[in-house]
Amino acid sequence: MHDQGLFSKSSKKPHIPNHPSNHSQGKPTVGCMGMGKMFLGEEMRPRSPRVNPDGANEVPYLQFPEMCRHDQLVHAVFTRQGGVSKAPYDTLNASYMTGDKPECVSSNLQIIKEAIGANELVFMNQMHGKEIFALRGERFEALGDPVDADAMITDQPQVALMVKQADCQAALLFDPIKDVVANVHCGWRGNVHNILGSVVGRMNSEFGCRSADLLAAIGPSLGPCCAEFVNYEQEFPEGFRRFMVREGYFDLWEISRWQLLEAGVAEDHIEVANICSRCRTDLFYSYRAEGVTGRFATVAMLKG
Ligand SMILES: [Zn+2]
Repeated sequence: MHDQGLFSKSSKKPHIPNHPSNHSQGKPTVGCMGMGKMFLGEEMRPRSPRVNPDGANEVPYLQFPEMCRHDQLVHAVFTRQGGVSKAPYDTLNASYMTGDKPECVSSNLQIIKEAIGANELVFMNQMHGKEIFALRGERFEALGDPVDADAMITDQPQVALMVKQADCQAALLFDPIKDVVANVHCGWRGNVHNILGSVVGRMNSEFGCRSADLLAAIGPSLGPCCAEFVNYEQEFPEGFRRFMVREGYFDLWEISRWQLLEAGVAEDHIEVANICSRCRTDLFYSYRAEGVTGRFATVAMLKG
């Protein structure tokens, strides 16, 4: 039976929770998450251990069911809730680059770190480019300032990789055999660069992974309901045209899924959140919906 959860397995026709065109599909459920009290009365299905089993921190986050099955991986998709920032950055803004007060962002990053039990968070100056930062062997403390990149890969435990987003995708890749994790910032320019394919290639060539072993997950981001590109003929390659769901609107989730499949990731290893950030500004930041706003955090870490 098709899983109607927010974090259902990949589906060719994404289910958009609470989207006006989708009301006939019934009330969505949450597959698996840390704290669910803010989810509009939707049914909770806590199918996996919480990242913080003590419940010491009340910050809510979402998790992907398949990735939850691997104890050596910690991951969390944070929402905009549970932080200290004021409007229009309310409240868990993870980016210093938005105009928010730095002290609020620092407090929010501390909240995120405590929620997942990380000592340090690594994040990037996200460039909408194709640079990949591979963190191997070296001590995190030696890194200094954030690097200019859009993807991070590591085999180092206790290094929490964070991507900040407001409509762009954060895509997680995890090799449960080799214990390697990647976190990718992928907006439409990332799709044009096929950064997902490049990251899979780098995991294989540099970390000894096999595409067939990888698990992948695409988080809340701009959905086909809202991903309008007026200049798509100039901006998108011809090969993206078949992902146009109506004039000027593209299914970026499907483009990413296709790029992962092309890179050799197995179809049943790809999870898609199917949550549109622009439709759900109650839960997430959306650049398209709000303009000046915060960035929510997706984090992954090997426990070691
Ligand atoms: Zn939408």
